[in-house]
Parts: sequence; C-alpha cells; structure tokens
Amino acid sequence: MTRSLFLLCLAALFFSVACESAPVRRHTHERLHSTLYLQRSAEYQATCLQTYRTATDRLEAALKDPAWTAETAQTGDIAALPPAVILDIDETVLDNAPYYGQVVRKDEDFDLKQWNRWVVRAEAELIAGAGEFIAAAQKAGVAVYLVTNRDARFEAFTRLNLQRRGISLDPQTDTLLMLRERPEWKADKRTRRAFIAQTHRILMLVGDNLNDFTSIEGLDEAARKQVVTAAAAQWSSRWFAIPNPGYGNWIDDITGDARTDEDILNRKYAAIRASTEISDEQMRELMNAAPSGYPVQVIVDTLTIPTRTDVAPAAQSEEAPAVPQQKESAPPETPPIAPTAN
Ligand SMILES: [Mg+2]
Repeated sequence: MTRSLFLLCLAALFFSVACESAPVRRHTHERLHSTLYLQRSAEYQATCLQTYRTATDRLEAALKDPAWTAETAQTGDIAALPPAVILDIDETVLDNAPYYGQVVRKDEDFDLKQWNRWVVRAEAELIAGAGEFIAAAQKAGVAVYLVTNRDARFEAFTRLNLQRRGISLDPQTDTLLMLRERPEWKADKRTRRAFIAQTHRILMLVGDNLNDFTSIEGLDEAARKQVVTAAAAQWSSRWFAIPNPGYGNWIDDITGDARTDEDILNRKYAAIRASTEISDEQMRELMNAAPSGYPVQVIVDTLTIPTRTDVAPAAQSEEAPAVPQQKESAPPETPPIAPTAN
C-alpha cells in the first residue's frame, strides 16, 4: 500500500468515527413531557401499582384454572405444564427515566451507545409494583420469565441490575431471554413466548408495548388498536399493560424516517387530531338547543365577544343580570403551527 493510500484510508477511518460519535441535537422536546410524567406524576405511580396489584389478585384464579393461558398461540393439553408469567423489562420492570432525563438535558435523541452505557451501569430502579408482583408469583410457585429486546451482550448487566433491586432469578434455568440470544429470537417476541410455551403454561403477560402480548409486525395504528379491541377479554385478566408515554410504535409511526427537527415537529403537529372550531353563531344554536336554558355565565365563558343581545333567550331575559361588555381585543397569543428551523 502506498503511503498516500494509507493516509487516505486513515483519514476516512477518522472521518467515519467522527460522524458516528457526533450527537444528534434535538430541539423538538422529544422526551421532555413524557419523562417528567414518568418521574413526577403520582398518577403514573398509581397506575403501575394498580396494574401489578390487579395482576397479583388474578394469580390465584389463573393457577386454579388448568385451561388458563395468556398466550393465544398456546393450545393443546397444557394442564400438566408448570405455570409461568412473562414480563418485559424496560419500562415494565426497570425504570429508565434517568437515562431519558440525560437525553432531555442534552437536547439529544436516543443514542444506542449512550443507552448501552446506561445499561452497563445497572442502576435502574424498579417500576412501582413490579417487585411485589414478581415476589408474589414466585411465592405461589410460578416461574418468572423476562423477555426483553435488550441485546444479548448485555445479559449479565441486566441480571446484575435486577439482582440489585431484589429480583431473584432462577439459578438453574435461564429465565432472562434477551434479543438474539438465539438466532431465531428476533425483536418480534413471539418466538420467545413460543419457546416458553413448550414447557410452561403462560398465565400472564406484562408489558408496555403490544409486542409484549402478541405479534404486531407490519401493523399500523388502526390495526394495532383493532388487536387491542379484539383482545378485550384479556386485559386485566391475562394481559397487563404499563403506560409508556416516551417511546413505542405509536410515536415511531408518526415521526417515521423524519430526521430534521422541523420535519419531526411538523409530523407531530400533523398527527394531532383536533376538534374543528365552531363560530359564535353555532355556539348560540347549541346553547339554545339546551333542554332547560343555560346560566348567563355560560355566555360569557363561551362566546368570544359576548354582547347585551347574547342575553336574549326569552326564559331568562327578565331575570338575567347584565353581561359585562368585553372590549374587542386581539385573540390570545397562540403557539405557532410549527417553529422555524434552526
Ligand atoms: Mg418495554
């Protein structure tokens, strides 16, 4: 190799490394609101506790019913199989909001290298109620399987994190099934559920993504919602969902392959379903159609420019107090449809 060719290759290598490590800047508040919700909302904590408490309460009935299975593909004679529950890990058992807090603080996007560093630290806390549910299942003689799309190379760190939080895993059997731990264990978790279903009767599934319950490969939002509706009998009985406002197929479908802040934000605005505004005239018609009149204050609180004539309904005109005149003024400031690109 000539010296100049060698130098060219070296420069290309440095360039590719530099490109790979450059953080993606984000000013689209990708995770600001959702991470605050996970960290600060008592209602989120209550919802997780409620879900795990409900699951715990259902364990007894699930154990008693020899035909009970949460895995729709599990058929045949399953009564003799030992019972198991399957839980996802991220945002189901382990709380990664501190990592997403880093993403927010630095105005960055999800970054695999930074995520891997978080996983290796093995310091995620438990989602509320997860530890108690797992302990209750184990106490009742139910095997606890964890099926995660964390990469198989990080199994030891994931195991360490769980152990640090008091989750004791079966020392005899590998119950922590990672992504690509076997060639056929792909992101679609059905192959891992099928693997467990060969040896266990699956009582319950717990997760924050529909993929934790059934295969959703290639399904759009409408189809996924149809899956949820069709499985109505499973929810709170065999399937238990934990909310995840931060990430999932729901937002991936919206932002798609958009890369610039402007594109991402525009797609989010375009995806919002908003009621159409109605005119004051239409609002008056609605109020006039009300079964028993309406308080005068409703006029003031709903019409953009209430006038004396707005207090016109015959039933109230004598008694109605004067409606304060409002000055015609500019409408309140509204946020722009989309910010300009940086
Ligand atoms: Mg998850």
